[in-house]
Amino acid sequence: MTPVTLITGASGGICGALARRLAADGHRLVLTALEADALDSLARELADGGAEVEVLAGDVRARDLPARAVERAVARFGRIDNLVNGAGASRPVKLVEMDDEEWDRLVDINLGAVFRFSKAVVRRMLAQGEGGAIVHISSIAHANGGANLAYGSAKGGVATLTYGMAQQLGPAGIRVNAVAPGIIDTPMVRNGFADRYEGLVAGAKVRTPLGRLGRAEDVADVIAYLLSPRAAFVTGALLPVTGGIEILSPISAIAGEGSGS
Ligand code: NDP
Repeated sequence: MTPVTLITGASGGICGALARRLAADGHRLVLTALEADALDSLARELADGGAEVEVLAGDVRARDLPARAVERAVARFGRIDNLVNGAGASRPVKLVEMDDEEWDRLVDINLGAVFRFSKAVVRRMLAQGEGGAIVHISSIAHANGGANLAYGSAKGGVATLTYGMAQQLGPAGIRVNAVAPGIIDTPMVRNGFADRYEGLVAGAKVRTPLGRLGRAEDVADVIAYLLSPRAAFVTGALLPVTGGIEILSPISAIAGEGSGS
């Protein structure tokens, strides 16, 4: 039976690549994101290629969206097997300049929604009684939020949620893992670092062991693996997809030397 997979943030760089990859692998898809237009055009592209796709546009902060997405999956496909929590938003704001509302907004999108989608989907998976697989998208920023305090803190919460969910849900056959991408060339990075994009590309060339920014497909392939039966004994893992940037020796990082030194 072909798996039914719900993806949040599906119109984005990473999850758009994931949707294409999973469609090619035969998944039936429920795609959700904020804006309907990009979502509809992705769904049309996938359906033209023969995939079965359902879409639902909405803000992940809306408390009823997770239940509506699960209902949509069940109405169209009769079940749900996998969840990928990919919706995310980032904005660098200094601590002393951050409004409480901005903090709440970023933490709700990047962490609260991950909890709520997980709860709605896991309830359905438990009712089905056949296990399932969940992948959250954390970030390398989980360990170092830098300028993105709310984002990094929320992504740290996503890592912790991954471990706790994996422990609670393992006995029901539900695997829960996360990826922690480094700097991936997507609209989030191109828009967020528009004035420094060339510097990022040049820096990645010398400061990343693999010598480049990540591609959306690099992350999508790891998520597809974590969802697949090939990862049947993997749960509670937080997999870096970074080209190795976080393992540079402190001396190399401080001295500004290349990754080969
Ligand atoms: P994109 O900006 O390309 O995509 C973000 C996706 O999230 C879009 O589909 C967007 O929908 C959706 N989204 C944003 N806010 C909301 C909201 N309030 N409600 C519903 N959907 C929303 O980003 P990436 O593909 O780069 O990021 C995907 C995930 O990977 C995110 O969780 C991000 O934090 C994480 N990540 C990315 C890294 C990178 O370097 N790119 C590094 C580490 C982690 P719409 O387009 O309709 O607004």
